[in-house]
Amino acid sequence: MARVALLTACYVGVLGAPAAASNPGTVENTGQLLHFGDLSSGSPTDEMFIVSTPNGTGYWIATQKGVVSVFGDAGSYGDLSEITLNKPIVGMGSTPTGLGYWLVASDGGIFTFGDAQFFGSGPGKNVSSDFVEILTSPRISGYALVAATGEVLNFGDMKLAGVDSCSVNPVGSASSFGGGVFLLRVNSQPDTGTITAQSGPLDSQFIDDLLDHAQHCEADSSDVSGFLSPVKEARITSSFGLRNHPIWKQPLMHGGTDYVSSSKTYDGAINAAKSGTVLGVFDLVAYGRTVVLGHGSKLATVYAHLKHSQVNVGQTVQIGQMIGQMGSTGASTGPHLHFEIRVSGLVRNPESLLGESHSH
Ligand SMILES: [Zn+2]
Repeated sequence: MARVALLTACYVGVLGAPAAASNPGTVENTGQLLHFGDLSSGSPTDEMFIVSTPNGTGYWIATQKGVVSVFGDAGSYGDLSEITLNKPIVGMGSTPTGLGYWLVASDGGIFTFGDAQFFGSGPGKNVSSDFVEILTSPRISGYALVAATGEVLNFGDMKLAGVDSCSVNPVGSASSFGGGVFLLRVNSQPDTGTITAQSGPLDSQFIDDLLDHAQHCEADSSDVSGFLSPVKEARITSSFGLRNHPIWKQPLMHGGTDYVSSSKTYDGAINAAKSGTVLGVFDLVAYGRTVVLGHGSKLATVYAHLKHSQVNVGQTVQIGQMIGQMGSTGASTGPHLHFEIRVSGLVRNPESLLGESHSH
């Protein structure tokens, strides 16, 4: 195979035990392969990719900024070091001759060098997530792009099979052999930084990405009815839409509706607004303890600021089933439920969708 190794920098530390200290950009060689040098300028924060020449007598190392370094008899055909990229480079592939290479950016954009031909790229192909890999073959003129959803786009003469199932866990890396692919599923990590006005939008984007992965193979819904109020005798304390944020004192989109209960006997129960599956339980910076439910047909509901949750990822829940307790975790000024309904990746106004079942 042309590509003897494809390692992102973060995986290097888990190879072999006990772990030996090595600098980012260090290359280790096994089998019959020779060592042709290390990347002396490897930055600890840059993801890097190593790609062998087809005959194994050299390799290229590319960084996420598109800087390509050559080793052994690998040829230098240029890179993107003079260009400021707005999307990081996520993969590199050698042409069958080894006289050129492709770089792919996270939006699926393709950059060609040497004898590498352009066969097409990711943008405009209706893939809902970022791309994570380019796969090439020493015998095939073309390449395949792998998205974090597990979708595979073939270009040129490449004909690799992709997956048509959904997973909440994105693909982090992929490798191919014959007509198939190995896909490595990884955990998606929410933001863990200090709380700022951007934490809410970051948490919202994290949930958006999660739903992209979990629901990309579902059909869009034409029926968005049948939701039950998640709070008994719900009273709205903040509506959906642009508002002056109570903590950050600046106009921010409120992607859901805030509820308390007006019931004198309220026990704090937060109930599933619709039957479905638990897609995620997270402790997010701004949303606090959060449960995300998937209801099929690209419908999802989000329950934030919970005191605690009592469901697990993958669990099936029935409409009205208690999933947690109202709380004030994350960026919150007091106990309430922040409730969202997401349809085909877009936040919708819960007030208009709860309809008859919703009582003030
Ligand atoms: Zn809210």
